[in-house]
Amino acid sequence: MKSSALHADALIWDAHACLPLSPLADVSALARHKAAGVDYVSINIGMDMNPIEQVMATLAAFRAQVQARPDLFRLVESGADVERARTDGVLALGFDLEGGLPLLGRAEMVVLFGALGVRQIHLAYNRNNALCGGCYDLPMGLTALGREIVAAINAAGILMDCSHTGEKSAFEIIEASNAPVVFSHSNPRAVSNDKRNIADSLIDACALRGGVVCANGVGRFLDDPEAGTPSILRAIDYLVTRIGPRHVGIGLDYSYSQGIDDDPPGLNKDYWWPRAEGYSNGINIRIATPEQWPEITEGLVKLGYAEADIRAILGGNMLALAKTVWRR
Ligand SMILES: [Zn+2]
Repeated sequence: MKSSALHADALIWDAHACLPLSPLADVSALARHKAAGVDYVSINIGMDMNPIEQVMATLAAFRAQVQARPDLFRLVESGADVERARTDGVLALGFDLEGGLPLLGRAEMVVLFGALGVRQIHLAYNRNNALCGGCYDLPMGLTALGREIVAAINAAGILMDCSHTGEKSAFEIIEASNAPVVFSHSNPRAVSNDKRNIADSLIDACALRGGVVCANGVGRFLDDPEAGTPSILRAIDYLVTRIGPRHVGIGLDYSYSQGIDDDPPGLNKDYWWPRAEGYSNGINIRIATPEQWPEITEGLVKLGYAEADIRAILGGNMLALAKTVWRR
């Protein structure tokens, strides 16, 4: 099958993207994802740095906008919902939380966020918190409260994500979780030696428990300021060689800025994106765009991958995992 036909026919899953974390954000911009052939995208609704007031106002606005455009978008609860949305020609959406602080230390908040459309949660954003370690902080394990939250995420049928998490905690979450975990947007350290990327041993541990590692499109984490498609393919190919095509996915991490300043008041960017790790004033680097999705499919065909493996990487693996983890 030609790559353009395969791209049109395959179910495509973007495991992580961002809109401005503001009620002013225009969700209809996600039509770019649909136009690029994407069938499901997970949208961030808050990170550890965002106060709960901002997270809830943003979530309410996103939900209202999605529900106002059933001709374009659909919030999904199950893998079967994703397939139905695709058949109906609408973009399937789920929400994700980047960090556990908006859970306010309460397991029942996991249930509430799940009821509001959150399908994927990770526990710490870059820095340590009361649940576990972050990737740019001192080594720290999963706390007792963190274990309680992992169990709540499992019980609620939400995907346990380990992106942005510290290494020691990520190993402990993979062990503690009673379902396979994902790295929704994390590249191998072998591709770019950044603490936000993950070591081979962690990649292996995720795959051994049935999880999926999704390659990330942020230039910094690809060791390519241009975030070019060949660099994304290099990350995917490394993962496929390491753990096989059934444990690899894609979360490009594209961020729709829309000219909206969504930084909470008094945000200390140097804390969340430390200068000691090479950041200056947060993340200022190109990120792969949704329009690169067809190039990724074309590149996988050129690499000589089997069609079934390409379909698995583009979305089949994440769909299969969602079918076992999410509520049906
Ligand atoms: Zn992220």
